[in-house]
Amino acid sequence: MSSENPQQNVGYSDTPVLPGGKWRVHDGARPQPRVVTPGAESSPAAAGKAPSDAVVLFDGGDLARWKGRGDQAAEWKVENGYVEVVGGKGDITSRDEFGDAQIHVEFMSPAEVKGNGQGRGNSGVFIMNRYEIQVLDCYENPTYADGTVGSVYGQYSPLVNAARKPGEWQTYDIFWTAPRFKADGSVEKPAYVTVVLNGVLVQNHTELMGGTSHRTLPEYKQHGPKGPIRLQDHGNPVRFRNIWVRPLKGHDEA
Ligand code: MG
Repeated sequence: MSSENPQQNVGYSDTPVLPGGKWRVHDGARPQPRVVTPGAESSPAAAGKAPSDAVVLFDGGDLARWKGRGDQAAEWKVENGYVEVVGGKGDITSRDEFGDAQIHVEFMSPAEVKGNGQGRGNSGVFIMNRYEIQVLDCYENPTYADGTVGSVYGQYSPLVNAARKPGEWQTYDIFWTAPRFKADGSVEKPAYVTVVLNGVLVQNHTELMGGTSHRTLPEYKQHGPKGPIRLQDHGNPVRFRNIWVRPLKGHDEA
């Protein structure tokens, strides 16, 4: 920035128009990005804080923003700032619904290691109620690659296995682009997902083949522009904390 030419701070009106025809290069009329106050990172001992524009689905308090079976209250165990799966109580589903989103979830595989393969620390983050990013204790626990932690279940193995040990908090940062459907129910644009597990990229703008499923081929079934986040009860006492979602808009949208 030059103090001699303040015009440079507010942009230009004599520069070439960018492809798309909407804005000039350094366009002075282009809206300022919305201000978001960043949150804080978690530590092993304490959950962090969500950015200011996030919908906080669970901050350690209660499960008011979640439901269990049907429309009943979620019955997982809340204590010490986390929520733990109670096997048999069923999945829990957010009451809020989201389309394109940034999703932050922290989880801990049970410190007491039980079971093998898909039976060890299994849960899952279902985006829009139907696209599962797998949660599994994959620390020295081989299973089919497209069902390991960081996988798009049944479709894509993660780029690497970045699992922490059981009993340690792990983080998922998920960047989700919802699929778009035509009026006739066919796919206009597929869903895309980028997933960072414990700071390591494990899915890089991965194009989903459809809804995730067990032992069957994925397929898309038309649904609305938004859907809830669902966490899976697979019978293992997996813990979650610090769950928040930022609904995403496009560039230049307030
Ligand atoms: Mg699962």
